[in-house]
Amino acid sequence: MSDLEQFKNEVTAWLEENCPPSQRTPAKADELVYGGSKCVFPSEDAKLWLKRMADKGWTVPSWPKQYGGGGLSAKEEKVLKKAMKKLGCRMPLTGHGLWMLGPALLEFGNEEQKLEHLPRIARGEVRWCQGYSEPGAGSDLASLRCKCEDMGDHYLVNGQKSWTTDGHKSDWVFVLVRTDFDAPKKQQGISFLLIDMKAPGVEVRPVTLLNGNDDFCDTFFDNVKVPKQNLVHELNQGWSVAKALLVHEREMMSKIQEFMPRLPYTVVEYAQHYLSLADDGKLADPYLRDRLTQHLMNTQSMGLSHRRAYEEGMAGILDKRSLSYFKAYATEEDKHRDELLIALLGTQGLGWEGEGFSEDELQLTRQFLMNKALSIGGGTTEVQMNLIAKQLGLPG
Ligand SMILES: Cc1cc2nc3c(=O)[nH]c(=O)nc-3n(C[C@H](O)[C@H](O)[C@H](O)COP(=O)(O)OP(=O)(O)OC[C@H]3O[C@@H](n4cnc5c(N)ncnc54)[C@H](O)[C@@H]3O)c2cc1C
Repeated sequence: MSDLEQFKNEVTAWLEENCPPSQRTPAKADELVYGGSKCVFPSEDAKLWLKRMADKGWTVPSWPKQYGGGGLSAKEEKVLKKAMKKLGCRMPLTGHGLWMLGPALLEFGNEEQKLEHLPRIARGEVRWCQGYSEPGAGSDLASLRCKCEDMGDHYLVNGQKSWTTDGHKSDWVFVLVRTDFDAPKKQQGISFLLIDMKAPGVEVRPVTLLNGNDDFCDTFFDNVKVPKQNLVHELNQGWSVAKALLVHEREMMSKIQEFMPRLPYTVVEYAQHYLSLADDGKLADPYLRDRLTQHLMNTQSMGLSHRRAYEEGMAGILDKRSLSYFKAYATEEDKHRDELLIALLGTQGLGWEGEGFSEDELQLTRQFLMNKALSIGGGTTEVQMNLIAKQLGLPG
């Protein structure tokens, strides 16, 4: 038996013994665990599941052990993920710290920063949010103006960030600030800071979204003092960190369905339940049948592309810039799928509240509304297309 097969057997046995049965069903929106000091666990089982996985380092399987990870190789990580998928295990933890800041700190943080922040992210003790966008700096992020002055023994930050996802539930924020307003290029003169949301002068105002949630925030910094050790990488060199982190964000967005609340049925099952079938068992409506087939084919192609990217990664030849393609394609397909689902449900897909609609139907409607934002967050589809065009050497 190969080492990998033995590892697979061990992993499966461990998961079977340690993943509580309640954590082997699709998680609803309010059952996802983001961690942090304000975390309200959906159940004792969810708390136990996080603790057990964090103890193994398997909330971040490939991070080095000294930073709270499992120290697994890429192949071992894939085995673990496959085994979890097979048993239906929920992700014990998710969030910006795990997916975005952590990998960026591994690359750019100093040893002190890694030891201070990474283990707490891995254990779900601290929740992070992202302070990149501003009212005048979204797609054109390098135009950001949030001001940071060097006051000798500390930095002083003043300005506004917008669309801070879950800012009101987070403990810390990673922020892009302008430290040099006279730099010849706007990408220069930007720095990457870590800020404690409890610092005096940080104010967060939630914004209500189309789906009724208040997940976004405006974040204001009014004379916020930031310790100098919270600067990541070099002063005025934050754009390099920002770009690397955006690659991780695109990767996360391209796989977002893995950790979004799962619907209880597959698209085919929804179609079978809500639509009439012809005598031969096919969907009677040829137009919806065609859309459904198209969606299934796209999903299959995407899965195969992911597989190819994985193989390229293993061979050390994956061009990380291709994540723009995955981000754009996956989030657009997510929207197509939701539009298809709403069409399959007919009027049952248009409920906001009330007894005329089941809980699942209401969840689907809210998901349809929320997922409109996926092709904007993490860089819009148009911006990804520009990046892809650049990679292909097409005229800008
Ligand atoms: C779900 C979600 C979560 C988010 N979370 C966060 C967060 O946690 N932290 C954070 O900092 N930000 C966050 N954002 C903000 C997000 O990064 C910005 O919304 C995004 O970068 C677009 O910027 P904008 O909204 O200012 O739109 P704009 O940049 O003003 O774009 C408006 C329109 O113009 C198009 N456009 C702009 N430039 C070009 C171009 N060069 N070529 C072609 N078309 C172009 C865009 O595609 C878009 O359609 C989030 C956004 C969403 C929707």
